[in-house]
Amino acid sequence: MSKQYSKLGIDSPSAQTPSNRALFLDRDGILNEDTGYIYLPQQVRFIESTLQVCRYAQSLGYLLIVVSNQSGVARGYFEEQDVVALHQWMKEQLAQRGVDIADFLFCPFHPQALIEAYRVDSPCRKPAPGMIVEAAARHALSLNDSYMVGDKPSDRIQLEGLRSYIVKSVYCQQDYDLETIEQLRTLL
Ligand SMILES: [Mg+2]
Repeated sequence: MSKQYSKLGIDSPSAQTPSNRALFLDRDGILNEDTGYIYLPQQVRFIESTLQVCRYAQSLGYLLIVVSNQSGVARGYFEEQDVVALHQWMKEQLAQRGVDIADFLFCPFHPQALIEAYRVDSPCRKPAPGMIVEAAARHALSLNDSYMVGDKPSDRIQLEGLRSYIVKSVYCQQDYDLETIEQLRTLL
């Protein structure tokens, strides 16, 4: 234990406690307009008001992490590799706009999937917290200091300690937390 630590009243275990914080973003309807089962770059229209909030969150030190249910894979509309390729493209496009996405996680499963291999009631499918738990491990996140924002009731992640905010949308006309994504600024 160095003098410096003891002077600050910090002991060594706390120095190893996960301390990064993240803003978890739903994808369709938050990062880009939700026109339904998007899997090609030409279908993507980014939402500028969200990008502004992302830049602000980044300036405060939040890691930006996208967590997305992509049941289109389970339904046979596109494949996992399409989602991976799209996310790589999005990462590059967003970087050019000053938004650095630290990670993209997605859940390809659905309990009523057409494709048997994806017919799973997955612990990763939101509102289950699997993707958040995985991201927290990858990026040493303190979830108490992190936030989730989405546009559907299923974006209210079932995980104690993580605060989820739902933006009013066609999917959520009641029980939302924010009229617009801009309101998230005041909560970070
Ligand atoms: Mg959404």
